[in-house]
Formats: sequence, C-alpha cells, structure tokens
Amino acid sequence: MTTRNLSLSDARALAVACLEKAGFDAANAAAIADRMIEAERDRCQSHGLFRLAWCVAGATSGRANPEAKPKLSTLAPAVVRVDGDAGYAPLAQQMAHDALVEATRKNGIAAAGITNMFHIAAMWPEVEALARDGLVAMAWTASYPYVAPAGGIKPLFGTNPMGFAWPRPGRDPLVFDQASSAMARGEIQIAARDGHSVPETAGIGPDGAATTDPNVVLEGAQLGFGGYKGAALAMMVELLAGPLIGEFLSFEAAEDDAGKGGPPKGGELIIAMDPARFGDPENALAHGEKLFAEVLSQEGTRLPGERRFKARAETPEQGIEVAEKLYQEALALSQ
Ligand code: NDP
Repeated sequence: MTTRNLSLSDARALAVACLEKAGFDAANAAAIADRMIEAERDRCQSHGLFRLAWCVAGATSGRANPEAKPKLSTLAPAVVRVDGDAGYAPLAQQMAHDALVEATRKNGIAAAGITNMFHIAAMWPEVEALARDGLVAMAWTASYPYVAPAGGIKPLFGTNPMGFAWPRPGRDPLVFDQASSAMARGEIQIAARDGHSVPETAGIGPDGAATTDPNVVLEGAQLGFGGYKGAALAMMVELLAGPLIGEFLSFEAAEDDAGKGGPPKGGELIIAMDPARFGDPENALAHGEKLFAEVLSQEGTRLPGERRFKARAETPEQGIEVAEKLYQEALALSQ
C-alpha cells in the first residue's frame, strides 16, 4: 500500500479545509479536526483521517448541524446534560467535561448525558481528560446496528465502546477503551480496504456462516467479544447511552439515518468519581499503584494505554503515514 508521510499540523490543516469546505463553522471544524488528529497522533487510524469523508457526508446530507452550539443544563445536583444541537460530538464533549468536573468535585460522583450529536468516536479522549483532572471516569456510547445478539445472526447492537480511566499521580493515567465487539468496525473496514483477512471471531456472513473475509462480515454481522459476554456488554451500553439519557438505540439511529449516510446520531453517558470523596481518600490512588506494579511484574504484560502514550511521544517527530488513496480523497474534499 502506498502511503504518504504528513506532519500532524499538515494533517490537521487538511482536515480543517475539508470540514470548512463542507460547511462546518470554524469552531466545529477545529474541534472535529483536533479529535481526528489526536487519534492519528496516538496511531488509532480507525478514528483519524479515515473518518473525514464520513463526517463530511453527515453534514452534506443535511442531517448534522455544521454550526452547532451545544447547550448545558443540570437535571439533578449530580446529573448534567449537554444538548449537542445536532452537531458533531467534540464541542458538546468539551462543554460536558467542564460541567462534569465541577459536579463531581461537589458531589463525589456525577454523570453527564450528552445527547443530540453525531459521531461519538473513541472514548479515551473524554476519560483520559477527566483522569488528568484527578477523577476516575467511565464512558459509553452506542452506534449503528452492527453486532448480532448472542445466538442471532442479524445486526442489532452497535460496536458499543466503553472507556475507563484511573488517575496516576505524576504519570499518564491508566486508560482502556474498547469496543464490545470482537473488532472495531473501522478496523474491519480498513482490513477490507487493504485486502487483509480478519479473525473468524470478528463476525459472520449474512447466512450466519463463519468467515475471515471482512467484506462478508460487513454484509453480515459482527460478533461481541468473548461470545455472549461481549453481547451482554453491548446490550448494557445500548441502555446506558440510549434510553437512560433519552437517546437512540443503535437500530433507531439507523432508522433516523435512513440511508442518507454519515455517522450515527446518538448520545454518550460519562460517569466521573472523585477518589478523594470515597472510602480511602488519602490512599486510593497509591493503593491502585500496587495493582499496576503487580501486573507489570509479570513478563509479557503492559498497561492498557501504554501503546498510545508511546505513539503520542513519537509521532510529532515521525509524522503519520496516510494511505495515498485516503490522502487524495481528502484533497479532493478540500477543494
Ligand atoms: P483495541 O482492541 O485496539 O484495544 C482495546 C484496549 O486494550 C485499549 O485500551 C488497548 O490499549 C488495550 N490493549 C490492547 N492490547 C493490550 C495488551 N497486550 N495489554 C494491555 N492492554 C492492551 O480497541 P478496539 O479495537 O476495541 O477499539 C478501538 C477504538 O475504536 C476505541 O478507541 C473505541 O472507543 C473505538 N470504537 C468506537 C466506536 C463508536 O461507535 N464510537 C465503536 C467501537 C469502537 P492501547 O491503546 O494502549 O493499545
């Protein structure tokens, strides 16, 4: 595959140009581009420039509001809500972050339901930012129906990711962020684009038969990780990021899209906890360090998040490798 090396600033400028060309105002274009470039920087390509055409399609189809101005409200002392004004997620998530930190410090625990927005991408930026503010954080979102329920063969649940972060004084936080499907959708799409196979656990064909062909999985259904256990988590995420906060289930997001194209409309639930307000205020974080030390004492282990932090340190100097096809597609969108 031919690739092109881009600096992070050139990649960001390209993303902003594509988004502004599609009608996004400066604040929305900058916030969306920043999220994509953060993903490229951490070498999570499935949420990087790869998503540009999809994001543009969501606005040019008339579904998403490219000039969104999110609105904050308080539903209970420890429950905030941000209405995304039918725009893309990043601006609404920024607003939710500040309100959630304040409510968590006041109450010990608080939740943010972010609704009426498009393209909630990876979960780590939200939870990592909260952990850097000293809070333990968890986040969930649904998407489009891609994953079959346990025993079924038709897509119903989203690939429904969950993020978790734990602060580590003086260090990068512990962060994990994972789909409830065996593989993220974007990874299967990238495998299809690049002509690679996927593991048999990733999904099934439309007839329910096992396959390693990513194109057949994309026509059929993805599977939850760990069989019925992943499917149960996907169901939990549907409920938390859908009915609980007044948002779509994944199959309702697909009905709303009605084939127009672009990312799903939906919501995100984030819960934050202040370790200084639970049972061991002085010692909770130091106690957590004991667990990490035990994990790392075993050969072959690493902490989740470490790969990203390493990539993050290296990328500014090395730049990013972008598939030439993707680069040309972005260039065309920007002109
Ligand atoms: P991965 O399977 O790549 O990684 C999941 C987590 O496991 C990461 O935190 C990763 O840390 C960690 N990890 C991986 N290998 C190891 C290891 N050997 N030891 C310890 N920890 C490890 O993620 P997914 O493919 O499931 O998801 C990719 C992204 O896609 C996520 O950001 C997710 O939020 C996003 N997504 C978004 C969806 C949406 O609808 N918005 C739907 C589904 C997924 P590290 O990063 O350091 O490798």
